Amino acid sequence: MTPVVVRDIAPLREAIAGARRGGLSIGLVPTMGALHAGHHSLIEAARARTGCVVVSIFVNPTQFGPKEDLRRYPRPLARDLELCGEAGVDLVFHPEPSVMYPPGYRTFVEVTGLQDVLCGASRPGHFRGVATVVLKLFNLVQPDFAFFGQKDAQQARLIQQMVRDLNVPVEVVICPIIREADGLALSSRNEYLDAQQRQQATILHRALQEARRRIEEGERDGAVVRRILAEHVASAPSADLDYAAVVDADSLASVARLSTGQPVLLALAVKFGGTRLIDNLLIQL
Ligand code: AMP
Repeated sequence: MTPVVVRDIAPLREAIAGARRGGLSIGLVPTMGALHAGHHSLIEAARARTGCVVVSIFVNPTQFGPKEDLRRYPRPLARDLELCGEAGVDLVFHPEPSVMYPPGYRTFVEVTGLQDVLCGASRPGHFRGVATVVLKLFNLVQPDFAFFGQKDAQQARLIQQMVRDLNVPVEVVICPIIREADGLALSSRNEYLDAQQRQQATILHRALQEARRRIEEGERDGAVVRRILAEHVASAPSADLDYAAVVDADSLASVARLSTGQPVLLALAVKFGGTRLIDNLLIQL
């Protein structure tokens, strides 16, 4: 069944109000489209918990830097709608940028501290755009639950913080990373990779696995774990390391020594040509 598609705010609010009147709980899955099995897993999680599943498809201009891939980001809308239909999505919200950011738009959300490290350091303004669009989507859809992927660990952490700090009445659910058979985390940007880059892109997952193995063998020095990650990535000739990080999963601050009871995030960003890939692994000792 094809889902109902709305492109404007008034029909979105009407459709949501209708679902509410019918006694349904609302689940929101925010996406930028070019849907894949990672998105599908979020939709499944939403279907398992809520009566009305809303997927937003919006390539949010405010989270792209001036030299980033906003214009060439894939937008296969017909296929996305088909996938949403097959996945049992009830409502797709697909606004034009001018609907979300009309002329005179001025308000932005900043999650200080969390927004400037890791991906925020190489993508200034990125998380300000993410937090802003997600809060707008929360205000528009007013979901009971919202579903995000652990793939974007920093984004997930930042949204949890924003929800807590701004008292947003939504429960944020973080879903596990979905991977290809060879370990590469699914991403809409994977389709930018040529055959050789695609083959070498498994280095992110392999580096994370190697770091985990060394931690399981007893390594506790954060700097050493960081070096293991970086050296592993460097073994792929086309890989250009943006960062290898070992951080506290809550504060995202660098960890000098891993210790029991402190969840630690191993995080990588690696460029292959113009394509920047990220991956991560949560370690609980
Ligand atoms: P995007 O369309 O890239 O903005 O992603 C939309 C949502 O899907 C975000 O919450 C992502 O974290 C999540 N997501 C993207 N890739 C994956 C993946 N491989 N596994 C799980 N969730 C994912």
